[in-house]
Amino acid sequence: MSVQVLSPSLPHAERPSWLSSLPRTSSSRSINTTSATKIDISSSPSCITTFTVRVHKDEPQITQGAQAARNTWLDIVPSAKDKQLRSHSAGPHGNFFAITWPYGKMERVKLATEIIETLWMYDDIAEDIPQNKAAEVHAKLSDSLEADKVPEHSSRKILIMGLFHGFAERLVRMDEEGAARVIDSLKSYLQNYDSKKGAFPDIDQYAEFRIVNVGFWIMESFMQWTLGICLTEKEQEMCHEFCLYAGRAMGLTNDLYSWNVERNDPADRQWNAVPVIKKQYDLTEENAVVYLKGLIVQHEQKTRQLGAEVRKQCAGSRKMAKYVDAMGMMLGGNCLWSSNCPRYNDEAGNE
Ligand SMILES: [Mg+2]
Repeated sequence: MSVQVLSPSLPHAERPSWLSSLPRTSSSRSINTTSATKIDISSSPSCITTFTVRVHKDEPQITQGAQAARNTWLDIVPSAKDKQLRSHSAGPHGNFFAITWPYGKMERVKLATEIIETLWMYDDIAEDIPQNKAAEVHAKLSDSLEADKVPEHSSRKILIMGLFHGFAERLVRMDEEGAARVIDSLKSYLQNYDSKKGAFPDIDQYAEFRIVNVGFWIMESFMQWTLGICLTEKEQEMCHEFCLYAGRAMGLTNDLYSWNVERNDPADRQWNAVPVIKKQYDLTEENAVVYLKGLIVQHEQKTRQLGAEVRKQCAGSRKMAKYVDAMGMMLGGNCLWSSNCPRYNDEAGNE
């Protein structure tokens, strides 16, 4: 089977439109227009995104958030050192979160980085928990995000729960209004984690479930929170389809680049589109990967189309223009980072 992979076209303006249209008033000063630098993705040939990629001006501080998470984690789980604690959000163009939220408020991006880096390290431990016990452990961790439930005891699991409890408190302290949605997304992720692995008859059903499992709603809620915006229920509803396409694009993109390390995992531990596509269409692994690339580009294009519709419907809303543009940058950043991060690519690079 031969599937043509569309080359990325990069017809984007240098600056996001919501920045160009910002009046120079005191209310716009919270956004530092020089706070992100465009990355030339042509230097990363394996990157297929059709979106612009930028890196936050304060990337070094954001990286400190990841470092803080790793130091705390090593205090709680010293054996992680022996397992050579895998590199998580680091990348050659900068930290994952500095690239996915390039216009976020630095302190918020830094805290979000610390939280998700911790979640990723927790994911690594979760891989070692027998599947029948995993749901119980995730549920307990989800409970620890409740502000009024202070974890007891002092076992390692409890220490981890205490850590997440502390994160919830810091989120609320920084911005009580926006924190609730972020905390809900973290809880929903933990409650759904591992619940359906390996049970997908086709790529459509798989991609649908992968939206939650890849952490899209966590990334999306932090995206709003770091930008200091909070969509109303009506606005969120209007963007729902747009979000679903973006979420599928994010999940499928992760699968494309992490397949490199996941292909050797046991089948019941794999969260990846390649084996699903391979089985559904009776393809070789190579052709399933090519098919997956096509699916990602298709989902990115649909995201762009729906984003344009949202902007049209909300003409004049700077908040919504900002939201749509930030979503594109998040997908672009996710793709570039995944295509060359140490986590998914060997030392010699995979480009
Ligand atoms: Mg993966």
